[in-house]
Amino acid sequence: MKVENRRILAVGAHPDDVEFMCGGTLKLLAEEGYEIFIGIMANGDCGSMVEPPESITRIRRHEALDAAKLLGAELYPLGELDLRITPDDRTKEATTELVRSVDPLLVFTHPHEDYMADHEVCSRLVRLACFCAPIPNYTTRAPIPAPRTYGIPYLYYWSPFEGLDIYGGFVPQSVLVDITPVVTFKTDLLTCHKSQRDWLLEQHGIDRYTELMKQTGRRYGKECGVEFAEGFRQHLGNAYPRDNMLAQILGARVKEKK
Ligand SMILES: [Zn+2]
Repeated sequence: MKVENRRILAVGAHPDDVEFMCGGTLKLLAEEGYEIFIGIMANGDCGSMVEPPESITRIRRHEALDAAKLLGAELYPLGELDLRITPDDRTKEATTELVRSVDPLLVFTHPHEDYMADHEVCSRLVRLACFCAPIPNYTTRAPIPAPRTYGIPYLYYWSPFEGLDIYGGFVPQSVLVDITPVVTFKTDLLTCHKSQRDWLLEQHGIDRYTELMKQTGRRYGKECGVEFAEGFRQHLGNAYPRDNMLAQILGARVKEKK
């Protein structure tokens, strides 16, 4: 039964995307007693100007594990390569296996349009996997396939990075979550991703990494009259559940915008 399912899955293209875009909301859900699962599509192997791919993959895996531990979440790395995530049958099946293994009530991922291709491919793969997960005839080549689910989960896309489209325009969101009480915790989550933070710190001379998160949070907060918010849009297409489950769970913390 949907209401008895207390599992939440968030899938990002790279290590740190999930924490950056919906870490506050995940913390609020964890506080409500929900189990959190984090999927990472690619290794983050291009996320350094100095470390070779194997080394930065290892570093970022540890950082992602630290952040997951802080959140009390379970981590599922899918092991694709940065800038090479391809929506072929192999990745479709792997993403469907992830959704089937967790069997979540609700799924978060990137929006279909964002500043870089990996985010967009990840978004499409997760959307497809949510649809495929309950279909008995959609089989995969996993050595031990997970059982099919009994419904399509609620699907939410978090806001584009910085809240901006590729032309620099602000992208309003229809579901805003007040994360003001957990913004310090969200900052701690991001601080686990030391390699990314240090790189920007060196490049810009300021703590641009966490500041950027707060800046986006303030922007969406302004939209709904709170200090910091995370923004989402729900997938409301045919077959996907259409009631706002996030609002049902988090109550007054969620502000809906028409
Ligand atoms: Zn990313």
